[in-house]
Amino acid sequence: MSFIEPIAKLISALTKLPGVGPKTAQRYAYSIINMGQEEALALVEAIREARGKVRYCSKCGNFTDADPCVICRTRDKTIICVVKEPKDVLALEKVRSYKGVYHVLHGTINPLEGKGPDDIRIRELLKRIEKGGVREVIMATNTDAEGDATAMYIARLLKGLGVKVTRIAQGMPIGADIEYADEVTLSKAIEDRKSMD
Ligand SMILES: [Zn+2]
Repeated sequence: MSFIEPIAKLISALTKLPGVGPKTAQRYAYSIINMGQEEALALVEAIREARGKVRYCSKCGNFTDADPCVICRTRDKTIICVVKEPKDVLALEKVRSYKGVYHVLHGTINPLEGKGPDDIRIRELLKRIEKGGVREVIMATNTDAEGDATAMYIARLLKGLGVKVTRIAQGMPIGADIEYADEVTLSKAIEDRKSMD
């Protein structure tokens, strides 16, 4: 650990990033200090701009710098793909054949963590569907227990609303994170989706 106060502060700030322990943080800190002044300031500016301009899309809940986001503005609104987190959208966007829009729940139902249906964006999804014009909802939450339970819960709620509800296929390994699945696997999971009726 560094005893030079500004370096210690930088290291401590960097350890807030996922997967960055004290050792990695130290390496990053020294690397930042070794950067040219201009390069280091560009990094600061990039952080400031991203943090300042990026917010959630009022329709889908994904990150955006313009509301509604570019996906909500330009894509097929008759198909909604429901995911747990913004980074899942990023993963699914690798599947170029998908032309629909998304709905980010910002979590899954998880009783052990005290997370119920009202704690994630299910109400917002219902509102979107009640407005009409949606013909299919693809449940693309992770294939773990929480993801499955959330998909089932939502499928039940949507019954009778006149939309087809599907679940991404078992091409996805059981318990798999959408985030880490490769393009071919995701592509196949969407292609082979099964009706939840
Ligand atoms: Zn959006």
